[in-house]
Amino acid sequence: MSEPGLNGLKRFSGYHLLIMKISPNLRLDKSLKSNKSRFRQMPYDSTKVNINSGGLAKNTFDAIVVGSGISGGWAAKELCEHGLKTLVLERGRDVVHLKDYPTATMNPWDFPHRGQMPDKFVKDNPLITEAAGFDESTQHFFIKDKDHPYVQEKPFEWIRGYQVGGKSLIWGRACPRWSKYEFINPAKFGYGIEWPISYDDIAPWYSHVETFAGICGNKDGLEAMPDGEYLPPFDFNCPEKDMRDKLLSKYKDRFMIQGRWAQLSEARDIHLKQGRGRCQARDLCMRGCPFGGYFSSNSSTLPWAAKTGNLTIRPFSVVHSIIYDEQKGKAVGVRIIDTNTKQSTDYFARIIFMNASAMNTNLVLLNSKSKRFPNGFGNDNGLLGKYVCFQNYRGSVGGDIEGYEDKYFYGRRTAECMMANYRNIHKNDMDFVGGYMAFMGCYRTRGTGDKMEIQIGADYKDAMSEAGHWGMYMYMQGETVPKESNHVALSENEKDQWGIPLLKMNVGYDDNDEKLLKDFLTQGSEMLDACGVKNINQHDNHWAPGRDIHEMGGCRMGKDPKTSLLNGWNQFHNCKNVFVTDGACMTSTANQSPSIFYMALTARATNYAVEELKKGNL
Ligand SMILES: Cc1cc2nc3c(=O)[nH]c(=O)nc-3n(C[C@H](O)[C@H](O)[C@H](O)COP(=O)(O)OP(=O)(O)OC[C@H]3O[C@@H](n4cnc5c(N)ncnc54)[C@H](O)[C@@H]3O)c2cc1C
Ligand code: SF4
Repeated sequence: MSEPGLNGLKRFSGYHLLIMKISPNLRLDKSLKSNKSRFRQMPYDSTKVNINSGGLAKNTFDAIVVGSGISGGWAAKELCEHGLKTLVLERGRDVVHLKDYPTATMNPWDFPHRGQMPDKFVKDNPLITEAAGFDESTQHFFIKDKDHPYVQEKPFEWIRGYQVGGKSLIWGRACPRWSKYEFINPAKFGYGIEWPISYDDIAPWYSHVETFAGICGNKDGLEAMPDGEYLPPFDFNCPEKDMRDKLLSKYKDRFMIQGRWAQLSEARDIHLKQGRGRCQARDLCMRGCPFGGYFSSNSSTLPWAAKTGNLTIRPFSVVHSIIYDEQKGKAVGVRIIDTNTKQSTDYFARIIFMNASAMNTNLVLLNSKSKRFPNGFGNDNGLLGKYVCFQNYRGSVGGDIEGYEDKYFYGRRTAECMMANYRNIHKNDMDFVGGYMAFMGCYRTRGTGDKMEIQIGADYKDAMSEAGHWGMYMYMQGETVPKESNHVALSENEKDQWGIPLLKMNVGYDDNDEKLLKDFLTQGSEMLDACGVKNINQHDNHWAPGRDIHEMGGCRMGKDPKTSLLNGWNQFHNCKNVFVTDGACMTSTANQSPSIFYMALTARATNYAVEELKKGNL
C-alpha cells in the first residue's frame, strides 16, 4: 500500500520543529528553529487585543481551525483546498498516520498485560478506563484522568482523545444520515426550537463527505434513515438474515439493515488518492489502521489538506480564547498556551472555525471574554453553555438463539446491523418525545459448557476450538431533549495546569429519557421474542451522560438570535467571522450518530465562508 500524501505537512511541537518529507510546495517558516525563540509570555488583558510583538506577520494566516479531530480535519481540508493558508491548533501531541500506531499489528500475546490495564492504572483512571474500546491496545489515544480535570456538579463522564486526529482515531464509525423529520419534529412537537436548515440543505453535503470519507452501507430506501453515497455493505450472517425477515413479517416499520460505517469495503479512486486501502476486516480499528481502512482525520482529511501546501498544524497548543477586536467589530485571532512551555502566543486570521469538540468549544467560548462580550463569546442572550444534550445509550437487550448450531461464520466483521427509528416520526403518539435507533446483531461464541469456566490450560484451548452458542443483541441510541437547565459553565476558582478555568458540568437525564428507555427495553424484548430468541434479558447500564460519547449543544444554531447563538451557516449571529461546526452547534440531538452530520455541516460552512470572504463580507 502506498504511503499517504503527508508531503508538505508542517507540524511543530512544543520544543522542536518536525518537518515531514519536504515537498516543493511546503510552506516552511525558516525562523521556526525553536519555539522557545518565538513565544513570549503575554499578560492577558481582555479589553485589549494583545499583539504578539514581532510575530504578527508570521503568526497570521487566512484561517484558523481550533481542533484537528473529525470536524476540524474537514474544516482544514476544505479551507486548504480553496487556497486558504490554514493553521490548525491542536492541544494534544502529534499523531502521524502509520508511524504513530504502535499497537496496530500487535497480537494479544505481544501486550505485557494481554490487553488489560494494570489495577493501579485503572484505580488512577476510573473515568477513562470505562470508555468503550479502551484497553491496553488503544490507551495511548485517550487522555489520562488526572491530567485533564473538570467539575461534575452532576455526574458526567467526559471521554476525550487529545491528539492530532482527536477522537477520529477511536470513534466507532457509525454514519447514518438524519432524516428530514429530525429537523422538523423538535419544533413541531414542542421540545425544541426550529432548525435554521432542512434536510434538503444538508443532503448534498452529506453526499460530499460520504464520497470522500468512504461509507459502506446498503440503499434501503428508509424514510427514517435516508440513503447516502455508499460503498458495498458488509454482509449479514445467517441468523441475522432470518431475524431481519422475521422482524419484517411481524412489524411493518422495523427494518434491521446492514449498518452504515466509515469503512472502506471497497477503495475507490478518491480513497486510493488519499493513500488509503480497502478494509481488511481485522476489527482492530481503534488502534489506528495501517491500511487507512476506516476514516480518520489522520488517514484522510489532514494529509489531503497538507498536500495543498496550505496547511500548518501546531500540536501542543491549547486554545485559551478567541481575540475580539472592538474597533473592527470582529474576531481577529486566538490565544494559545503551549502545553509544554506554558507560554502564550496569539495567532491571527480572517476567519476562525471552532472544532475543539462540543464541550471544549463551549469552554473556549465561555473563556473568550471581552468588553463587547463580557459573558463569553457571542453570548448576548446568555444562552452560551446551555441546552447541552447527548444521546441516551442506557438500554440493551439480548438472549440466545437456537437452531443454528450447524452454522458458522468466518473472519471478523467491523460493522453491526442497525435499526432505524420507528417512534414519533409522523406524529407524537408516545408518552415521550423523540426517537431512538438501535444497533444489533447475531454472534456466535467459542467454547461450550463447563470447560470454558476453567479459563486456562489445555482444556480451555480445547473448549475454544469448539463452537459455542448463538446469541442476539440490540442496544439503543436515543434522542434527548435540549434543556436550558442542562448546562456547562466555567469554574470560578479552579483552573487547569495551563491556568484555564475548569469546565463545570451540570447535565442530567429527565423523565422523557426514562420513558424512552423503558419503551426501548419493552419493544426490544418483544422484537427478540418475535425472532424466537430465548432467555431474553434487559439491561439498564445507568451510565452517566458523557459516557454515551455523543455530547452536543451549548452554542446552538437557530433562526432567532434571541434563542440561539449561530445562524444557519454555523456563523455567530453577532460575529460573522467565527463559525462553530462541531457538536456544540447542535439544536437538537436526533437519534442517529452525529459525526457524519458534523462533517457535512463543516464542509457546508467552510464553503460558505470562502464565498463570503471572496465577496468581502468577512
Ligand atoms: C469510543 C467512541 C466511539 C464513538 N463512536 C461514534 C460513532 O460510531 N459514530 C459517531 O458519529 N460518533 C462516534 N463517536 C463520537 C465522535 O468521536 C465525535 O462525535 C467526534 O469525534 C466529534 O468530532 P469533533 O471534531 O467535534 O471532536 P474530536 O474528534 O474530539 O476533535 C476535537 C479536537 O480538538 C482538540 N481540542 C480540544 N480542546 C482544544 C483547545 N482548547 N485547543 C486546541 N485543541 C483542542 C482535541 O484534542 C481534539 O483533537 C465516538 C466517540 C468515542 C470516544
Ligand atoms: S477492520 Fe478495516 S479499518 Fe479496521 S483496522 Fe482492520 S483493516 Fe483497518
